[in-house]
Amino acid sequence: MQTPGVPAPNHVPLTPLSLLDWAVTVYPRKTAVIYGDQRMDYAQYDARCRRLAAALVRRGLKPGQTVAAMLPNIPPMLEAHFGVPMAGGILNTINIRLDARTIAFILDHGEAKVLLTDTAFAPVIREALSLVKHKPLVVDIHDALGPGGDALGDVDYETLLAEGEPDFRWQWPASEMDTISLNYTSGTTGNPKGVLYHHRGAHQGAFSNIIACQMGQQPTYLWTLPMFHCNGWRFPWTLPAVAGTSVCLRAVDPAEIFYLLEAEKVTHFCGAPLVLNMLCNAPEANTLNLKQPVTAYVGGAAPPSSVIGALENIGIHVVHLYGLTETYGPSHYCAWQSEWDALDADARAEQTARQGVRYLTIEDSMVADPDTMEPVPMDGQTLGEIMVRGNSVMSGYLKNPDATEEAFRGGWYHTGDLAVWHADGYLEIKDRAKDIIISGGENISTIEVEDILYRHPAVLEAAVVSAPSERWGETPCAFVTLKSGKEDTTADEIIAWCKDNLAGFKVPRHIIFGELPKTSTGKIQKFVLRDQASDLDDSKVAHRSSKG
Ligand code: ADP
Repeated sequence: MQTPGVPAPNHVPLTPLSLLDWAVTVYPRKTAVIYGDQRMDYAQYDARCRRLAAALVRRGLKPGQTVAAMLPNIPPMLEAHFGVPMAGGILNTINIRLDARTIAFILDHGEAKVLLTDTAFAPVIREALSLVKHKPLVVDIHDALGPGGDALGDVDYETLLAEGEPDFRWQWPASEMDTISLNYTSGTTGNPKGVLYHHRGAHQGAFSNIIACQMGQQPTYLWTLPMFHCNGWRFPWTLPAVAGTSVCLRAVDPAEIFYLLEAEKVTHFCGAPLVLNMLCNAPEANTLNLKQPVTAYVGGAAPPSSVIGALENIGIHVVHLYGLTETYGPSHYCAWQSEWDALDADARAEQTARQGVRYLTIEDSMVADPDTMEPVPMDGQTLGEIMVRGNSVMSGYLKNPDATEEAFRGGWYHTGDLAVWHADGYLEIKDRAKDIIISGGENISTIEVEDILYRHPAVLEAAVVSAPSERWGETPCAFVTLKSGKEDTTADEIIAWCKDNLAGFKVPRHIIFGELPKTSTGKIQKFVLRDQASDLDDSKVAHRSSKG
Protein backbone atom coordinates (compact mmCIF):
# COMPACT_ATOMS: atom_id res chain seq x y z
CA MET A 1 0.00 0.00 0.00
CA GLN A 2 1.20 3.48 -0.76
CA THR A 3 2.13 5.68 2.21
CA PRO A 4 0.17 8.95 2.14
CA GLY A 5 2.40 11.87 1.10
CA VAL A 6 5.05 9.58 -0.43
CA PRO A 7 4.82 9.46 -4.22
CA ALA A 8 4.51 6.03 -5.83
CA PRO A 9 7.04 5.17 -8.55
CA ASN A 10 4.29 4.55 -11.05
CA HIS A 11 1.54 6.96 -10.08
CA VAL A 12 1.57 10.64 -9.18
CA PRO A 13 -1.44 12.88 -8.98
CA LEU A 14 -1.69 14.97 -12.12
CA THR A 15 -1.15 18.67 -11.45
CA PRO A 16 -0.08 21.56 -13.68
CA LEU A 17 2.46 22.53 -11.00
CA SER A 18 4.86 19.91 -12.36
CA LEU A 19 4.88 21.74 -15.71
CA LEU A 20 6.69 24.73 -14.22
CA ASP A 21 9.17 22.35 -12.57
CA TRP A 22 9.92 20.97 -16.02
CA ALA A 23 10.36 24.38 -17.64
CA VAL A 24 12.74 25.66 -14.96
CA THR A 25 14.84 22.51 -15.18
CA VAL A 26 15.11 22.50 -18.95
CA TYR A 27 14.95 26.21 -19.83
CA PRO A 28 15.96 28.22 -16.73
CA ARG A 29 17.24 31.17 -18.81
CA LYS A 30 14.35 31.30 -21.26
CA THR A 31 12.18 34.42 -20.88
CA ALA A 32 8.99 33.36 -19.12
CA VAL A 33 7.33 36.74 -18.58
CA ILE A 34 7.51 40.13 -20.29
CA TYR A 35 5.77 43.18 -18.90
CA GLY A 36 6.71 46.60 -20.23
CA ASP A 37 10.51 46.72 -19.88
CA GLN A 38 10.49 43.95 -17.29
CA ARG A 39 11.83 40.50 -18.31
CA MET A 40 11.77 37.42 -16.09
CA ASP A 41 13.36 34.10 -17.01
CA TYR A 42 11.97 30.75 -15.89
CA ALA A 43 14.38 30.53 -12.95
CA GLN A 44 13.25 33.94 -11.66
CA TYR A 45 9.58 33.24 -12.33
CA ASP A 46 9.72 29.87 -10.58
CA ALA A 47 11.56 31.41 -7.58
CA ARG A 48 8.88 34.10 -7.19
CA CYS A 49 6.09 31.50 -7.34
CA ARG A 50 7.85 29.44 -4.65
CA ARG A 51 8.41 32.53 -2.52
CA LEU A 52 4.70 33.33 -2.74
CA ALA A 53 3.80 29.76 -1.74
CA ALA A 54 6.26 29.73 1.17
CA ALA A 55 5.08 33.12 2.41
CA LEU A 56 1.41 32.06 2.29
CA VAL A 57 2.23 28.93 4.30
CA ARG A 58 4.19 31.02 6.83
CA ARG A 59 1.21 33.33 7.15
CA GLY A 60 -0.92 30.33 8.08
CA LEU A 61 -2.61 29.27 4.82
CA LYS A 62 -3.74 25.63 5.13
CA PRO A 63 -4.30 23.19 2.26
CA GLY A 64 -7.75 23.67 0.74
CA GLN A 65 -8.06 27.31 1.81
CA THR A 66 -8.83 30.04 -0.67
CA VAL A 67 -6.66 32.90 -1.89
CA ALA A 68 -8.60 35.47 -3.91
CA ALA A 69 -6.97 37.68 -6.56
CA MET A 70 -8.33 40.96 -7.91
CA LEU A 71 -5.72 41.58 -10.58
CA PRO A 72 -5.41 42.53 -14.24
CA ASN A 73 -3.13 40.49 -16.52
CA ILE A 74 0.11 41.44 -14.75
CA PRO A 75 2.97 39.16 -13.59
CA PRO A 76 1.63 38.62 -10.02
CA MET A 77 -1.52 37.09 -11.57
CA LEU A 78 0.65 34.51 -13.37
CA GLU A 79 2.63 33.92 -10.16
CA ALA A 80 -0.62 33.33 -8.23
CA HIS A 81 -1.56 30.54 -10.66
CA PHE A 82 1.44 28.56 -9.39
CA GLY A 83 2.23 30.06 -5.99
CA VAL A 84 -1.24 29.59 -4.51
CA PRO A 85 -1.63 25.88 -5.40
CA MET A 86 2.04 25.25 -4.48
CA ALA A 87 0.94 26.29 -0.98
CA GLY A 88 -1.95 23.82 -1.24
CA GLY A 89 -4.39 26.72 -1.66
CA ILE A 90 -7.27 27.32 -4.04
CA LEU A 91 -6.94 30.30 -6.36
CA ASN A 92 -10.08 32.38 -6.73
CA THR A 93 -9.58 35.01 -9.44
CA ILE A 94 -12.18 37.76 -9.30
CA ASN A 95 -13.57 39.60 -12.30
CA ILE A 96 -12.08 43.10 -11.96
CA ARG A 97 -15.23 44.84 -13.23
CA LEU A 98 -17.51 43.52 -10.52
CA ASP A 99 -19.29 45.77 -8.04
CA ALA A 100 -18.45 45.81 -4.32
CA ARG A 101 -21.52 43.84 -3.25
CA THR A 102 -20.76 40.95 -5.61
CA ILE A 103 -17.07 40.95 -4.66
CA ALA A 104 -18.07 40.80 -0.99
CA PHE A 105 -20.42 37.89 -1.76
CA ILE A 106 -17.59 36.03 -3.53
CA LEU A 107 -15.05 36.66 -0.75
CA ASP A 108 -17.47 35.37 1.88
CA HIS A 109 -18.86 32.47 -0.15
CA GLY A 110 -15.37 31.32 -1.19
CA GLU A 111 -14.10 31.88 2.38
CA ALA A 112 -11.00 33.71 1.12
CA LYS A 113 -8.24 33.77 3.72
CA VAL A 114 -6.02 36.05 1.63
CA LEU A 115 -6.83 38.68 -1.02
CA LEU A 116 -4.19 39.80 -3.52
CA THR A 117 -5.37 43.13 -4.90
CA ASP A 118 -4.00 45.74 -7.28
CA THR A 119 -4.13 49.20 -5.71
CA ALA A 120 -6.00 50.48 -8.79
CA PHE A 121 -9.06 48.69 -7.39
CA ALA A 122 -8.78 50.23 -3.92
CA PRO A 123 -12.13 52.09 -4.03
CA VAL A 124 -14.25 49.03 -4.88
CA ILE A 125 -12.21 46.70 -2.66
CA ARG A 126 -12.43 49.10 0.29
CA GLU A 127 -16.22 49.03 -0.04
CA ALA A 128 -16.30 45.25 -0.51
CA LEU A 129 -14.15 44.74 2.60
CA SER A 130 -16.58 46.89 4.58
CA LEU A 131 -19.34 44.42 3.61
CA VAL A 132 -17.64 41.06 4.20
CA LYS A 133 -18.36 38.96 7.25
CA HIS A 134 -14.81 37.58 7.40
CA LYS A 135 -11.99 39.89 6.36
CA PRO A 136 -9.10 38.16 4.56
CA LEU A 137 -5.44 39.08 4.88
CA VAL A 138 -5.15 41.86 2.27
CA VAL A 139 -2.01 42.00 0.14
CA ASP A 140 -1.54 45.16 -1.95
CA ILE A 141 0.11 45.01 -5.34
CA HIS A 142 1.64 48.27 -6.49
CA ASP A 143 2.06 47.97 -10.23
CA ALA A 144 4.54 50.52 -11.58
CA LEU A 145 2.66 50.53 -14.90
CA GLY A 146 -0.72 50.96 -13.20
CA PRO A 147 -2.50 54.17 -12.24
CA GLY A 148 -1.54 53.91 -8.54
CA GLY A 149 -4.11 53.89 -5.76
CA ASP A 150 -4.43 53.50 -2.01
CA ALA A 151 -2.84 50.64 -0.13
CA LEU A 152 -5.58 48.98 1.93
CA GLY A 153 -3.78 45.97 3.11
CA ASP A 154 -1.85 44.33 5.82
CA VAL A 155 1.24 43.84 3.70
CA ASP A 156 2.58 44.74 0.29
CA TYR A 157 3.16 41.96 -2.26
CA GLU A 158 6.94 42.36 -2.58
CA THR A 159 7.31 42.36 1.23
CA LEU A 160 5.21 39.21 1.38
CA LEU A 161 7.36 37.53 -1.29
CA ALA A 162 10.51 38.42 0.66
CA GLU A 163 9.13 36.41 3.60
CA GLY A 164 9.22 33.19 1.53
CA GLU A 165 12.15 31.04 0.36
CA PRO A 166 12.88 30.86 -3.37
CA ASP A 167 13.56 27.10 -3.11
CA PHE A 168 10.39 26.21 -1.20
CA ARG A 169 9.50 22.56 -1.89
CA TRP A 170 5.83 22.26 -2.66
CA GLN A 171 3.87 19.10 -1.85
CA TRP A 172 1.99 17.10 -4.45
CA PRO A 173 -1.73 17.43 -3.89
CA ALA A 174 -2.99 14.51 -1.79
CA SER A 175 -5.36 13.72 -4.66
CA GLU A 176 -5.39 14.97 -8.23
CA MET A 177 -9.09 15.66 -7.63
CA ASP A 178 -8.21 18.30 -5.02
CA THR A 179 -9.41 21.74 -5.96
CA ILE A 180 -6.89 24.03 -7.66
CA SER A 181 -9.13 26.99 -8.40
CA LEU A 182 -12.54 28.53 -7.93
CA ASN A 183 -14.17 30.59 -10.67
CA TYR A 184 -17.46 32.37 -10.24
CA THR A 185 -19.93 32.48 -13.13
CA SER A 186 -21.35 35.81 -14.16
CA GLY A 187 -24.47 35.46 -11.99
CA THR A 188 -26.84 37.17 -14.36
CA THR A 189 -29.70 35.24 -12.75
CA GLY A 190 -29.00 35.64 -9.05
CA ASN A 191 -25.85 35.14 -7.01
CA PRO A 192 -22.86 33.83 -8.98
CA LYS A 193 -22.08 30.12 -8.73
CA GLY A 194 -18.59 29.02 -7.65
CA VAL A 195 -17.17 26.57 -10.20
CA LEU A 196 -14.53 24.22 -8.75
CA TYR A 197 -11.60 23.06 -10.92
CA HIS A 198 -9.41 20.13 -9.90
CA HIS A 199 -5.67 19.59 -10.45
CA ARG A 200 -6.29 16.71 -12.87
CA GLY A 201 -8.61 18.74 -15.09
CA ALA A 202 -6.23 21.72 -15.05
CA HIS A 203 -3.32 19.47 -16.07
CA GLN A 204 -5.26 17.78 -18.85
CA GLY A 205 -6.78 21.06 -20.00
CA ALA A 206 -3.35 22.71 -20.05
CA PHE A 207 -2.03 19.96 -22.33
CA SER A 208 -5.00 19.96 -24.64
CA ASN A 209 -4.35 23.65 -25.40
CA ILE A 210 -0.98 22.71 -26.84
CA ILE A 211 -2.58 20.25 -29.22
CA ALA A 212 -5.78 22.03 -30.16
CA CYS A 213 -4.00 25.37 -30.53
CA GLN A 214 -0.95 23.83 -32.24
CA MET A 215 1.32 25.88 -30.04
CA GLY A 216 4.60 24.16 -30.92
CA GLN A 217 7.65 24.91 -28.77
CA GLN A 218 8.49 28.29 -27.24
CA PRO A 219 5.53 30.34 -28.43
CA THR A 220 5.07 33.97 -27.41
CA TYR A 221 1.62 34.45 -25.95
CA LEU A 222 -0.05 37.85 -25.53
CA TRP A 223 -2.44 38.20 -22.60
CA THR A 224 -5.47 39.78 -24.31
CA LEU A 225 -7.83 37.32 -22.55
CA PRO A 226 -8.41 38.10 -18.85
CA MET A 227 -6.76 35.58 -16.55
CA PHE A 228 -9.64 36.08 -14.15
CA HIS A 229 -11.87 34.36 -16.70
CA CYS A 230 -11.65 30.53 -16.41
CA ASN A 231 -7.99 30.88 -15.38
CA GLY A 232 -7.23 32.45 -18.74
CA TRP A 233 -8.53 29.33 -20.52
CA ARG A 234 -5.73 27.40 -18.68
CA PHE A 235 -2.91 29.14 -20.58
CA PRO A 236 -0.95 30.17 -17.43
CA TRP A 237 -0.46 26.43 -16.85
CA THR A 238 0.05 25.59 -20.54
CA LEU A 239 2.88 28.00 -21.25
CA PRO A 240 5.63 26.41 -19.11
CA ALA A 241 4.90 23.06 -20.77
CA VAL A 242 6.08 24.57 -24.08
CA ALA A 243 8.64 26.92 -22.53
CA GLY A 244 6.48 29.77 -23.77
CA THR A 245 6.79 33.47 -23.05
CA SER A 246 3.86 35.37 -21.55
CA VAL A 247 3.50 38.99 -22.63
CA CYS A 248 1.42 40.68 -19.93
CA LEU A 249 -1.07 43.40 -20.74
CA ARG A 250 -2.82 45.51 -18.12
CA ALA A 251 -5.69 46.61 -20.33
CA VAL A 252 -6.97 45.77 -23.77
CA ASP A 253 -5.86 48.63 -25.98
CA PRO A 254 -5.66 48.06 -29.76
CA ALA A 255 -2.65 50.36 -30.30
CA GLU A 256 -0.70 48.57 -27.54
CA ILE A 257 -1.74 45.15 -28.85
CA PHE A 258 -0.59 45.95 -32.39
CA TYR A 259 2.67 47.35 -31.02
CA LEU A 260 3.33 44.19 -28.97
CA LEU A 261 2.40 41.86 -31.83
CA GLU A 262 5.26 43.37 -33.82
CA ALA A 263 7.77 44.32 -31.08
CA GLU A 264 7.59 41.11 -29.02
CA LYS A 265 6.93 38.87 -32.05
CA VAL A 266 3.79 37.46 -30.50
CA THR A 267 2.69 34.16 -32.01
CA HIS A 268 -0.60 33.47 -30.20
CA PHE A 269 -3.36 35.31 -28.40
CA CYS A 270 -6.98 34.71 -27.37
CA GLY A 271 -10.04 36.88 -27.13
CA ALA A 272 -13.77 37.28 -27.29
CA PRO A 273 -15.19 38.18 -30.72
CA LEU A 274 -15.79 41.77 -29.65
CA VAL A 275 -12.12 42.23 -28.73
CA LEU A 276 -11.08 40.85 -32.10
CA ASN A 277 -13.68 43.01 -33.84
CA MET A 278 -12.24 46.06 -32.08
CA LEU A 279 -8.80 45.09 -33.42
CA CYS A 280 -10.04 44.70 -37.02
CA ASN A 281 -11.62 48.14 -36.86
CA ALA A 282 -8.64 49.93 -35.30
CA PRO A 283 -6.62 52.21 -37.64
CA GLU A 284 -3.40 50.31 -36.76
CA ALA A 285 -4.82 47.20 -38.47
CA ASN A 286 -4.13 48.85 -41.83
CA THR A 287 -0.40 49.21 -41.26
CA LEU A 288 0.27 45.97 -39.40
CA ASN A 289 3.52 44.40 -40.57
CA LEU A 290 3.86 40.92 -39.10
CA LYS A 291 7.11 39.03 -39.63
CA GLN A 292 5.91 35.88 -37.82
CA PRO A 293 2.78 33.74 -38.15
CA VAL A 294 0.15 34.81 -35.60
CA THR A 295 -2.85 32.78 -34.53
CA ALA A 296 -5.80 34.24 -32.63
CA TYR A 297 -8.11 31.93 -30.72
CA VAL A 298 -11.58 33.33 -30.56
CA GLY A 299 -14.36 32.13 -28.30
CA GLY A 300 -16.68 33.05 -25.49
CA ALA A 301 -19.40 34.05 -27.96
CA ALA A 302 -20.05 33.25 -31.60
CA PRO A 303 -17.57 35.09 -33.84
CA PRO A 304 -19.34 36.58 -36.86
CA SER A 305 -17.78 35.19 -40.04
CA SER A 306 -17.02 38.79 -41.09
CA VAL A 307 -14.69 39.16 -38.08
CA ILE A 308 -12.87 35.93 -38.92
CA GLY A 309 -12.49 37.17 -42.52
CA ALA A 310 -11.23 40.62 -41.48
CA LEU A 311 -8.54 39.14 -39.22
CA GLU A 312 -7.39 36.71 -41.89
CA ASN A 313 -7.10 39.74 -44.22
CA ILE A 314 -4.59 41.43 -41.91
CA GLY A 315 -2.55 38.25 -41.67
CA ILE A 316 -3.85 36.82 -38.39
CA HIS A 317 -5.00 33.21 -38.60
CA VAL A 318 -8.15 32.55 -36.57
CA VAL A 319 -9.14 29.37 -34.75
CA HIS A 320 -12.58 29.19 -33.26
CA LEU A 321 -13.01 27.78 -29.72
CA TYR A 322 -16.11 27.12 -27.66
CA GLY A 323 -16.58 26.35 -23.99
CA LEU A 324 -17.85 27.50 -20.65
CA THR A 325 -16.58 28.31 -17.18
CA GLU A 326 -17.76 24.82 -16.17
CA THR A 327 -15.42 23.21 -18.74
CA TYR A 328 -12.33 25.22 -17.71
CA GLY A 329 -12.86 27.45 -20.77
CA PRO A 330 -12.72 25.89 -24.26
CA SER A 331 -14.03 22.35 -24.62
CA HIS A 332 -14.52 22.41 -28.41
CA TYR A 333 -12.61 23.84 -31.33
CA CYS A 334 -13.08 24.02 -35.03
CA ALA A 335 -10.38 21.53 -36.05
CA TRP A 336 -9.09 22.32 -39.54
CA GLN A 337 -9.69 19.82 -42.36
CA SER A 338 -7.29 19.90 -45.30
CA GLU A 339 -10.17 19.88 -47.82
CA TRP A 340 -11.04 23.37 -46.59
CA ASP A 341 -7.77 24.71 -48.06
CA ALA A 342 -9.39 24.66 -51.49
CA LEU A 343 -12.47 26.65 -50.44
CA ASP A 344 -12.93 30.35 -51.18
CA ALA A 345 -12.73 32.80 -48.27
CA ASP A 346 -16.50 32.90 -47.64
CA ALA A 347 -16.93 29.14 -47.67
CA ARG A 348 -13.90 28.77 -45.39
CA ALA A 349 -15.29 31.32 -42.93
CA GLU A 350 -18.58 29.40 -42.94
CA GLN A 351 -16.75 26.23 -41.86
CA THR A 352 -14.66 27.96 -39.21
CA ALA A 353 -17.64 29.82 -37.75
CA ARG A 354 -18.84 26.42 -36.45
CA GLN A 355 -17.93 25.51 -32.87
CA GLY A 356 -16.51 22.20 -34.05
CA VAL A 357 -15.42 19.10 -32.23
CA ARG A 358 -14.36 18.18 -28.71
CA TYR A 359 -10.89 18.77 -27.27
CA LEU A 360 -8.88 15.64 -26.55
CA THR A 361 -9.48 16.08 -22.83
CA ILE A 362 -13.24 16.18 -23.21
CA GLU A 363 -13.75 12.45 -23.54
CA ASP A 364 -17.22 12.68 -25.01
CA SER A 365 -19.64 15.27 -26.33
CA MET A 366 -23.01 15.15 -28.04
CA VAL A 367 -25.93 17.25 -29.15
CA ALA A 368 -28.96 15.65 -27.54
CA ASP A 369 -32.53 16.07 -26.43
CA PRO A 370 -32.17 17.17 -22.78
CA ASP A 371 -35.24 15.21 -21.68
CA THR A 372 -34.66 11.85 -23.39
CA MET A 373 -30.83 12.23 -23.58
CA GLU A 374 -31.07 10.80 -27.12
CA PRO A 375 -28.54 12.32 -29.54
CA VAL A 376 -30.15 14.37 -32.32
CA PRO A 377 -29.62 13.22 -35.93
CA MET A 378 -26.49 14.62 -37.60
CA ASP A 379 -28.58 16.50 -40.15
CA GLY A 380 -27.45 20.08 -39.50
CA GLN A 381 -31.08 20.93 -38.72
CA THR A 382 -32.38 19.35 -35.54
CA LEU A 383 -31.77 21.43 -32.45
CA GLY A 384 -30.48 19.81 -29.27
CA GLU A 385 -28.45 20.75 -26.21
CA ILE A 386 -24.67 20.37 -26.15
CA MET A 387 -23.62 17.87 -23.46
CA VAL A 388 -20.09 17.01 -22.45
CA ARG A 389 -18.21 14.70 -20.12
CA GLY A 390 -14.54 14.31 -19.45
CA ASN A 391 -11.62 15.21 -17.26
CA SER A 392 -11.85 18.92 -17.83
CA VAL A 393 -15.35 19.29 -16.52
CA MET A 394 -15.79 21.04 -13.15
CA SER A 395 -15.99 19.07 -9.90
CA GLY A 396 -19.22 20.93 -9.18
CA TYR A 397 -20.52 24.19 -7.76
CA LEU A 398 -19.21 25.20 -4.34
CA LYS A 399 -21.80 24.68 -1.59
CA ASN A 400 -24.53 24.16 -4.17
CA PRO A 401 -25.31 20.42 -4.52
CA ASP A 402 -28.71 21.06 -6.12
CA ALA A 403 -27.26 23.13 -8.96
CA THR A 404 -24.47 20.55 -9.40
CA GLU A 405 -26.94 17.68 -9.60
CA GLU A 406 -29.08 19.59 -12.07
CA ALA A 407 -26.06 20.39 -14.28
CA PHE A 408 -24.91 16.72 -14.26
CA ARG A 409 -28.25 14.99 -14.69
CA GLY A 410 -28.19 11.86 -16.82
CA GLY A 411 -24.42 11.50 -16.44
CA TRP A 412 -23.52 14.44 -18.68
CA TYR A 413 -22.75 18.09 -18.07
CA HIS A 414 -25.58 20.12 -19.61
CA THR A 415 -24.20 23.28 -21.22
CA GLY A 416 -27.49 25.10 -21.82
CA ASP A 417 -26.35 25.79 -25.40
CA LEU A 418 -28.55 24.83 -28.31
CA ALA A 419 -26.85 23.48 -31.41
CA VAL A 420 -27.24 21.40 -34.53
CA TRP A 421 -24.95 18.51 -35.38
CA HIS A 422 -23.58 18.36 -38.91
CA ALA A 423 -22.95 15.17 -40.87
CA ASP A 424 -19.18 15.63 -40.45
CA GLY A 425 -19.56 15.54 -36.64
CA TYR A 426 -19.02 19.31 -36.20
CA LEU A 427 -21.52 21.06 -34.03
CA GLU A 428 -22.83 24.54 -34.59
CA ILE A 429 -24.39 26.66 -31.86
CA LYS A 430 -27.64 28.33 -32.72
CA ASP A 431 -28.19 30.00 -29.39
CA ARG A 432 -28.08 29.80 -25.66
CA ALA A 433 -31.28 28.11 -24.55
CA LYS A 434 -32.40 31.36 -22.93
CA ASP A 435 -31.57 33.53 -25.97
CA ILE A 436 -33.31 31.65 -28.76
CA ILE A 437 -36.33 33.45 -30.26
CA ILE A 438 -39.48 31.48 -30.93
CA SER A 439 -41.63 33.38 -33.40
CA GLY A 440 -44.95 31.88 -34.50
CA GLY A 441 -43.60 28.47 -33.46
CA GLU A 442 -40.42 28.82 -35.57
CA ASN A 443 -36.97 28.95 -33.97
CA ILE A 444 -34.84 31.96 -34.86
CA SER A 445 -31.14 31.74 -34.09
CA THR A 446 -30.02 35.15 -32.90
CA ILE A 447 -26.47 34.19 -33.95
CA GLU A 448 -27.61 33.72 -37.56
CA VAL A 449 -29.32 37.13 -37.66
CA GLU A 450 -26.31 38.81 -36.01
CA ASP A 451 -23.99 37.23 -38.56
CA ILE A 452 -25.96 38.86 -41.39
CA LEU A 453 -26.00 42.22 -39.58
CA TYR A 454 -22.21 42.09 -39.11
CA ARG A 455 -21.79 41.65 -42.86
CA HIS A 456 -23.44 45.02 -43.50
CA PRO A 457 -20.61 47.46 -44.25
CA ALA A 458 -21.89 50.09 -41.80
CA VAL A 459 -22.32 47.76 -38.81
CA LEU A 460 -19.64 47.74 -36.12
CA GLU A 461 -21.48 45.61 -33.55
CA ALA A 462 -24.85 43.92 -33.39
CA ALA A 463 -26.96 41.94 -30.96
CA VAL A 464 -30.37 40.42 -31.50
CA VAL A 465 -32.88 39.63 -28.75
CA SER A 466 -36.56 38.82 -28.62
CA ALA A 467 -39.24 41.48 -28.37
CA PRO A 468 -42.79 40.57 -27.37
CA SER A 469 -45.30 40.34 -30.18
CA GLU A 470 -49.06 40.00 -29.78
CA ARG A 471 -49.27 38.13 -33.04
CA TRP A 472 -46.11 35.99 -33.10
CA GLY A 473 -45.30 35.61 -29.41
CA GLU A 474 -41.77 36.90 -30.02
CA THR A 475 -40.03 38.70 -32.86
CA PRO A 476 -36.35 39.62 -33.33
CA CYS A 477 -35.17 43.05 -32.25
CA ALA A 478 -31.70 44.23 -33.29
CA PHE A 479 -29.43 46.57 -31.35
CA VAL A 480 -26.75 47.98 -33.62
CA THR A 481 -23.66 50.16 -33.23
CA LEU A 482 -22.64 51.84 -36.49
CA LYS A 483 -19.05 52.35 -37.63
CA SER A 484 -17.73 55.87 -37.33
CA GLY A 485 -18.41 57.80 -40.53
CA LYS A 486 -21.46 55.58 -41.25
CA GLU A 487 -23.82 57.11 -38.69
CA ASP A 488 -26.26 58.17 -41.43
CA THR A 489 -27.30 54.61 -42.09
CA THR A 490 -31.01 54.16 -41.43
CA ALA A 491 -33.03 51.36 -39.88
CA ASP A 492 -34.77 50.84 -43.21
CA GLU A 493 -31.45 50.25 -44.96
CA ILE A 494 -30.47 47.66 -42.35
CA ILE A 495 -33.84 45.97 -42.59
CA ALA A 496 -33.64 45.89 -46.40
CA TRP A 497 -30.24 44.19 -46.07
CA CYS A 498 -31.70 41.60 -43.72
CA LYS A 499 -34.63 40.97 -46.06
CA ASP A 500 -32.18 40.28 -48.89
CA ASN A 501 -30.24 37.79 -46.79
CA LEU A 502 -32.69 36.14 -44.40
CA ALA A 503 -36.07 34.42 -44.41
CA GLY A 504 -38.83 36.99 -43.76
CA PHE A 505 -39.73 35.79 -40.25
CA LYS A 506 -36.08 36.19 -39.15
CA VAL A 507 -35.85 39.86 -40.17
CA PRO A 508 -35.67 42.15 -37.10
CA ARG A 509 -38.83 44.17 -36.60
CA HIS A 510 -36.97 46.87 -34.68
CA ILE A 511 -33.50 48.32 -35.17
CA ILE A 512 -32.21 50.31 -32.24
CA PHE A 513 -28.95 52.22 -32.68
CA GLY A 514 -26.48 52.90 -29.88
CA GLU A 515 -23.70 51.47 -27.71
CA LEU A 516 -24.08 47.87 -26.57
CA PRO A 517 -23.72 46.96 -22.88
CA LYS A 518 -20.88 44.48 -22.36
CA THR A 519 -19.38 42.28 -19.70
CA SER A 520 -15.72 42.56 -18.77
CA THR A 521 -14.98 39.56 -20.95
CA GLY A 522 -16.37 41.34 -23.98
CA LYS A 523 -19.75 39.63 -24.12
CA ILE A 524 -22.85 41.60 -24.92
CA GLN A 525 -25.24 41.66 -21.98
CA LYS A 526 -28.32 40.40 -23.73
CA PHE A 527 -30.40 40.46 -20.57
CA VAL A 528 -30.04 44.27 -20.49
CA LEU A 529 -31.14 44.51 -24.12
CA ARG A 530 -33.99 42.04 -23.57
CA ASP A 531 -35.20 44.32 -20.82
CA GLN A 532 -35.20 47.30 -23.18
CA ALA A 533 -36.90 45.27 -25.91
CA SER A 534 -39.61 44.10 -23.54
CA ASP A 535 -41.33 47.49 -23.93
CA LEU A 536 -41.59 47.10 -27.70
CA ASP A 537 -44.51 45.49 -29.44
CA ASP A 538 -44.40 44.89 -33.17
CA SER A 539 -48.16 44.84 -33.54
CA LYS A 540 -48.09 48.59 -33.00
CA VAL A 541 -44.87 49.71 -34.69
CA ALA A 542 -43.06 48.02 -37.50
CA HIS A 543 -39.41 48.67 -38.34
CA ARG A 544 -38.92 51.39 -35.80
CA SER A 545 -35.56 52.96 -35.25
CA SER A 546 -34.47 54.78 -32.13
CA LYS A 547 -33.37 57.59 -34.43
CA GLY A 548 -37.04 58.00 -35.34
P1 ADP B 1 -20.77 33.66 -18.91
O1 ADP B 1 -21.80 32.67 -18.44
O2 ADP B 1 -20.39 34.70 -17.95
O3 ADP B 1 -21.04 34.20 -20.28
P2 ADP B 1 -18.99 31.58 -19.75
O4 ADP B 1 -17.64 31.78 -20.26
O5 ADP B 1 -19.17 30.41 -18.88
O6 ADP B 1 -19.39 32.86 -19.01
O7 ADP B 1 -19.96 31.54 -20.97
C1 ADP B 1 -20.08 30.39 -21.69
C2 ADP B 1 -21.11 30.59 -22.76
O8 ADP B 1 -20.61 31.46 -23.78
C3 ADP B 1 -21.48 29.32 -23.45
O9 ADP B 1 -22.46 28.60 -22.73
C4 ADP B 1 -21.99 29.83 -24.78
O10 ADP B 1 -23.34 30.22 -24.69
C5 ADP B 1 -21.15 31.06 -25.03
N1 ADP B 1 -20.04 30.74 -25.95
C6 ADP B 1 -18.76 30.48 -25.63
N2 ADP B 1 -18.03 30.25 -26.75
C7 ADP B 1 -18.87 30.36 -27.80
C8 ADP B 1 -18.73 30.21 -29.21
N3 ADP B 1 -17.56 29.95 -29.76
N4 ADP B 1 -19.82 30.39 -29.96
C9 ADP B 1 -21.03 30.66 -29.41
N5 ADP B 1 -21.23 30.83 -28.09
C10 ADP B 1 -20.17 30.67 -27.29
